[in-house]
Amino acid sequence: MTYRGRFAPSPTGPLHFGSLVSALASWLDARAHGGAWLVRIEDIDGPRTVPGAAEEILSTLDHFGMHADEPPLWQSHRIARYQEALEQLKATGLIYPCGCTRKEIADSLLHTHARNTTLAYPGTCRNGLHGKPARAWRLRVPDGDTAVITFEDRWQGKQTQNLATEVGDFVLKRADDQWAYQLAVVVDDADANITHIVRGADLMDSTARQIYLQRCLDVPTPAYLHVPVVTNDQGEKLSKQNGATALDNDKPLETLGAAARHLGLEMGVEEHTTLDSFHAAATTAWAKHMGMRVQRN
Ligand code: GLU
Repeated sequence: MTYRGRFAPSPTGPLHFGSLVSALASWLDARAHGGAWLVRIEDIDGPRTVPGAAEEILSTLDHFGMHADEPPLWQSHRIARYQEALEQLKATGLIYPCGCTRKEIADSLLHTHARNTTLAYPGTCRNGLHGKPARAWRLRVPDGDTAVITFEDRWQGKQTQNLATEVGDFVLKRADDQWAYQLAVVVDDADANITHIVRGADLMDSTARQIYLQRCLDVPTPAYLHVPVVTNDQGEKLSKQNGATALDNDKPLETLGAAARHLGLEMGVEEHTTLDSFHAAATTAWAKHMGMRVQRN
């Protein structure tokens, strides 16, 4: 196996501590495996993309000594591939146009579900649009036992999700014509031959959807590892919306040390005066943490 990992930031602002932890974990895992590490800029969510943020993120990664093995890939350059994947799914009858508005979905859930069930799309447009204009494209999820997706997370252990009851038929192309993250991420990881995905645990909930989509598109399923998310004092996931600040490019060692501590790596983070020596020690500590030996390429 040739290990290929990646870090896939959304350029909605500069890199913050939470995203640095994901970047560092994916970088260390690739280094520990003697593999390649790629960076993909997930810039297809037009309204959320901030001009200049991608360049800032790339520059911070550079200042922090994390250098990609290939030029960064931009999702906005890959629209034709997403369209091809959609056509492939259309040809197999796995997707259908949906005319529901958010309000209609919320209303029908109110009538058909007990209050505490999760909000799975009730499949209103599965058998036709009922005269409504098509707005989005949804992927049909299986019913019964085949709806249960199970996978082994390398950090968090066995995970199970029932796509029928917990998710429902999910959107691949949105009503506003934007490509959904779920489709883009699966197509991009497959095209880049990504073998290992290392990212924040906030994306754990999307993984079963992505595995199912990989099966529908007939592409391999990579190994998954979700690292604990960084939270603020209120216990919320750190994000630009709740006060995460940009990282200081001039103090990489301090910040990397804090990220290594968050990951529980056993290493003397203060001992290092160069990025090279920090990254070498962190790679060894990561491998030990994961119960593996560092492999050299
Ligand atoms: N772009 C996503 C984010 O920043 C990450 C996607 C992924 O790693 O699969 O949350």
